[in-house]
Amino acid sequence: MKIKPQIIGLPPYKPGKPMEDVKRELGLETVVKLASNENPFGASPKVAEAIQEALHHTAIYPDGYARTLRDKVAHYVGVAPEELIFGNGSDEVIQILCRAFLNEQTNTVMAEPTFSQYKLNAVIEGAELREVPLKDGVHDLDGMLEVIDENTRIVWVCNPNNPTGTYVSAEAFQSFLAKVPEDVLVVSDEAYVEYVTADDYPDTVPMIRTYKNLVVLRTFSKVFGLAALRIGYGVANQALIEKIEPVRPPFNNSTFSQVAAVAALEDEAFVQSSVEKNNEGMVQLTEWCSRMGLDYFPSQTNFLLIHVNRSSDDVFNAMLKKGYIIRSGRALGYPAWIRITIGSKEQNDGCLAALADVLAEELTTQHLS
Ligand SMILES: *Cc1c(COP(=O)(O)O)cnc(C)c1O
Repeated sequence: MKIKPQIIGLPPYKPGKPMEDVKRELGLETVVKLASNENPFGASPKVAEAIQEALHHTAIYPDGYARTLRDKVAHYVGVAPEELIFGNGSDEVIQILCRAFLNEQTNTVMAEPTFSQYKLNAVIEGAELREVPLKDGVHDLDGMLEVIDENTRIVWVCNPNNPTGTYVSAEAFQSFLAKVPEDVLVVSDEAYVEYVTADDYPDTVPMIRTYKNLVVLRTFSKVFGLAALRIGYGVANQALIEKIEPVRPPFNNSTFSQVAAVAALEDEAFVQSSVEKNNEGMVQLTEWCSRMGLDYFPSQTNFLLIHVNRSSDDVFNAMLKKGYIIRSGRALGYPAWIRITIGSKEQNDGCLAALADVLAEELTTQHLS
């Protein structure tokens, strides 16, 4: 058998450690997972009710066009239903875009470090990667513009960026967009948009009318608390959506995910209270870092990347023993940093106390910077 050569030796995605595994391995009763930027407050209670009702219809294929959800989301973001494409998580929209635009003759431009799925999918399609290092933790848009050439098909802007939590301003994004050749797709991945508080964060959705090469990615996995159900979407000009729709698997959003997302959108109060509590948690974590003398990137999300100034894998393992699953920065391109999802007040209290202990303990490491 001759598998695509670029897949040989490719490491599979390393997800945040599952809580049940940690409980079993360490014999702990409770484990707190602050590793994957999920909503610590779960989802709206209306979601479970909607799924309960849908349980009786498992023999029937889901609506392949997601009509009800499509209309809801169109209203929510302020576009026409035809300007949306739904994916099994926004991860799948990323995959669809890569399948539609990339092959061996093309290249794709992204920041480094950024969300891992752009690179993974591009590699599978055989495209050349042009990774442009972040500047002070922020996308170097000028640097990205410089490496675009006639073979560039997709440019990725993760905004706010995962794993740094930093953002590109409206002014910077507008001026970037105006300079990207109009036959190059620009993806603005906005998985954390609901958490953003910065006044100068770009309002990209209305820009799809002017820029026919812009796709905005959103998800129900973060503030809406539906990570388990896998549902995300892309917003773009109708002609572009029509071109990529044939690449989308026909029934890629289950009935459960569709009804759940509709219910989640209807509960604005849940989202608002999640965002408010996140803001409080962010203050709690950043103030703690300042008191501890630890650097961090200012974040517009529900996570914080913290400079622990020693091996992030060691800190990860020490935190695990105390029942806290956080994310080691090593696989994220920051081997002396850790990424912590903002939890509930109680989870944050516990996590920071555990981290203070870990950092005070003599770690058997070379100090990295
Ligand atoms: C979490 C995340 C996603 C993936 O979300 P799904 O909709 O669950 O696939 C996409 N982009 C970024 C930057 C993320 O952090």
